[in-house]
Amino acid sequence: MSSSSQPETAIVVGSGIIGIACAHYLSKAGLQVTVIDRNSLAGACSHGNCGYICPSHVLPLTEPGAFRTALKSLFTPHAPFRVKPRFSPPLWNWMWQFARRCNHRQMLASGKHLKTILDSSMTEYRRLIVDEQLDCEWKEQGLLYVLQTEKGMHEFSQTDQILSDHFGVKAQCINGADLPAFDPALKQDLAGAFHYPEDASVRPDLLNSQWVARLKQNGVKFIENCELQGLSKSAGRITQLKTSCGVMDAHRFVFATGAWSPQISAELDCRIPIQPGKGYSITMQRPTPCPQYPMLFPEHKVGVSPFQNGYRLGSMMEFSGYDTSIPEHRIAQLRKSAEPYLIAPSTENAQETWFGWRPMTWDSLPIIGRTPRLMNAYLATGHNMLGMSLATATGKLIAELIQGKPTHIDANPFSPTRF
Ligand SMILES: Cc1cc2nc3c(=O)[nH]c(=O)nc-3n(C[C@H](O)[C@H](O)[C@H](O)COP(=O)(O)OP(=O)(O)OC[C@H]3O[C@@H](n4cnc5c(N)ncnc54)[C@H](O)[C@@H]3O)c2cc1C
Repeated sequence: MSSSSQPETAIVVGSGIIGIACAHYLSKAGLQVTVIDRNSLAGACSHGNCGYICPSHVLPLTEPGAFRTALKSLFTPHAPFRVKPRFSPPLWNWMWQFARRCNHRQMLASGKHLKTILDSSMTEYRRLIVDEQLDCEWKEQGLLYVLQTEKGMHEFSQTDQILSDHFGVKAQCINGADLPAFDPALKQDLAGAFHYPEDASVRPDLLNSQWVARLKQNGVKFIENCELQGLSKSAGRITQLKTSCGVMDAHRFVFATGAWSPQISAELDCRIPIQPGKGYSITMQRPTPCPQYPMLFPEHKVGVSPFQNGYRLGSMMEFSGYDTSIPEHRIAQLRKSAEPYLIAPSTENAQETWFGWRPMTWDSLPIIGRTPRLMNAYLATGHNMLGMSLATATGKLIAELIQGKPTHIDANPFSPTRF
């Protein structure tokens, strides 16, 4: 910490859920915090996602068979998990590293690390929502994984067994015949479901805006439309940020730049192997009947998020670079994917169609910690499909590392030095 009477200062680059969480914990630790974003606040991947805070998602993307699915998708444009064929050495290197990790042993090893940070995040969220009185549709109803076919039920029961045996994540198994009583929005003829009662959900845009408002009240400064363009460095430290709003200095710098993080890798003199994993969502008026539970349909890879004043379907994982299009066929596919499961799968008019780039690492673990060559530069990125779920523990870890305190969980598996 600063030796003078002036408080230590920190700049957080990126105002997604991860930047917001870092600002929160740094501010609580007594630092004077400024958050900058090149666009509007929390307007990127943290805006239109499904909003699950899900400790049940311990199993990483690097599971046996995932690479085969990726390869097949080269030739199936409508696959929910899709690698678009294109010449991109960073993408093919990423895929090679990803492929090497798609085995049972690595899946369990990564899952162990994810479980620790997921559990810590959940504990922190429970405290945060109450302490800061965030009115963001926080619900602890659990998450329902619904299976259409007996084959799907059989395959998912193997996943459930791994979750239970290796991670102590327990579900209630529900017969298809009992599903309409569990959630009357579900159809009659489904094979069954698994309910993970420990999961929670939020409306992501509300969480972001409420949390930002609270932080502003507590003295955190947010600057929109302010792009990081370069760094000034001296003696192994960042001295200034060059931004579209002028130069800025601080004692510490946190880079929470999501899927864009590789673009600052050279400046930070640090490998940041992230690929954008594009997903889509459509937000509509609530159908009748509207699901009561947040749900996932693993066979169609689609998520359903009922909100107080809306209803969202979200899905897909496309490795197609920084492509900003929202093809109509993808949105139509989202609507169609919910049809086998729900009595009223969608409503006519969309309130919003959206895409977001998930920051995907090849080992499915986030990148949290100090960069190897710059003493006052920290990365908080690479949260894959779990940025909402992992935000609080990430912010807490960053604040602990910056203060030089012992960390509440082992930070080594997430270190930027592992690449
Ligand atoms: C369809 C879909 C559903 C999902 N559902 C869930 C879910 O249910 N639960 C869950 O846990 N996760 C979910 N996710 C994943 C989650 O949304 C992401 O992991 C998370 O939003 C990443 O947050 P972030 O803050 O790292 O990135 P972002 O929210 O993308 O924020 C990064 C910010 O950095 C800014 N930035 C970048 N470069 C610069 C620069 N040079 N200068 C200034 N600013 C810069 C950007 O403008 C952006 O605002 C989902 C994702 C998708 C696509």
